[in-house]
Amino acid sequence: MKVGMISLGCPKNQVSAEQMLFLLREAGHEITTDMDEAEAIVVNTCAFIEDAKQEAINTVLEAAEFKKTGALRHLVVAGCLSQLFGEQVLEEIPEADAVVGVGSCEEIAEVLERVQRGERPVVMGDNSAPVAECPRIISTGPAWAYLLIAEGCDNRCSYCVIPSIRGRFRSRAPEKILEEAERLASYGYRELILVAQDLTRYGKDIPGWSLARLLRELVKIDGVDWIRLHYLYPHELTDELIEVIAEEPKIVKYLDIPIQHINDRILKLMNRRDTGGEIRALFKKLRERIPGLVLRTSLISGLPGEGGAEFEELCEFLREAKIERAGVFPFSPEEGTPAAKMEFADNETARERAEKIQELQSGVMDEWEASLVGRVIPAICDGYDMDSGEPYGRAYFDSPGIDGAVVFEGEVSPGDIVDIEVLSAAEGVLRGRAV
Ligand code: SF4
Repeated sequence: MKVGMISLGCPKNQVSAEQMLFLLREAGHEITTDMDEAEAIVVNTCAFIEDAKQEAINTVLEAAEFKKTGALRHLVVAGCLSQLFGEQVLEEIPEADAVVGVGSCEEIAEVLERVQRGERPVVMGDNSAPVAECPRIISTGPAWAYLLIAEGCDNRCSYCVIPSIRGRFRSRAPEKILEEAERLASYGYRELILVAQDLTRYGKDIPGWSLARLLRELVKIDGVDWIRLHYLYPHELTDELIEVIAEEPKIVKYLDIPIQHINDRILKLMNRRDTGGEIRALFKKLRERIPGLVLRTSLISGLPGEGGAEFEELCEFLREAKIERAGVFPFSPEEGTPAAKMEFADNETARERAEKIQELQSGVMDEWEASLVGRVIPAICDGYDMDSGEPYGRAYFDSPGIDGAVVFEGEVSPGDIVDIEVLSAAEGVLRGRAV
């Protein structure tokens, strides 16, 4: 059949989608990006907060419309919404024909066979089983690819439903990660973006291994020129890890370190292992040890118990720390989490505070961007703009899909990593001349 894939949510989910695409093609299906001609569609859902669940349900219902307007006969719901609700998905969404949990991606071809036989299977494998070692069809750009190094999470932050969806933390075998990195390099992927729920926990379940050791091995691979790190748990950023990041030129001086808040009482209510003082000290140490470092973080506004003073402390910290990249989520009480049992003021306050942080941060970012003009920085070319034909890409501090972009002046081809002189900077887009 012609099969389409719609993948929502985080890079970990995207890697699962890439594995399912590979298995579907191996089973003889033709992969299509045209949902009108798709005879089967897999919607790989996200469900980490209420808004994401709503988006997932809307996307499944939109896909179901192709049963009326297109060639669609079979609709499979996979990913985190399936893991969270299982059978209920079929009860609530009669247009759906099958449900595949996060632990059962490797059975996607069999599930499609059963659907073709008229069954409505619900396949919910063990979401804490060893991480699936399965080839994938890379869906990202010509120059970069995600590299999943672990799955699940044991941190149990009080507001977070991810551990109950993605299971307990488990690292991939280092030799499997290194093999895949070499394979990706041989295909021309010069930038590898390391992902997990918590990268810093890598190797805790494999004697003798750690993220620091894995990085030292990854930088030895020819053809891998940029290694980007997402989802670093602040408390676990050891001096050894900081040294590797600082010393190794291939490790991009851009670190994604979700802190969620800065006030001690709120951090405790979140069941986070850091104090505000430790986070301030860590950021100070990182900026001193790693020249040119750009930080990204994630924040939550309006957690139950957050009063005006705690929120103001967070805003004051952001004004001081000048974190270049920050995402903020208004608190969302997720069923089954300890925070959902806490007395919750109202959504409105949480949303207002999130907007206030966004405003504050856009000021920080504008000021920082303006300071980039005239500087020479490394950037990677991702392709050519469909309209202008100009080469575009990202600076070292731009992670795909969440940060800014670069428009190149001069001869640059996809996959090239070049130094550019920044000519202008506006709203996240830099214009730079290759030097
Ligand atoms: S570290 Fe905390 S917020 Fe992140 S996935 Fe784990 S439990 Fe959730």
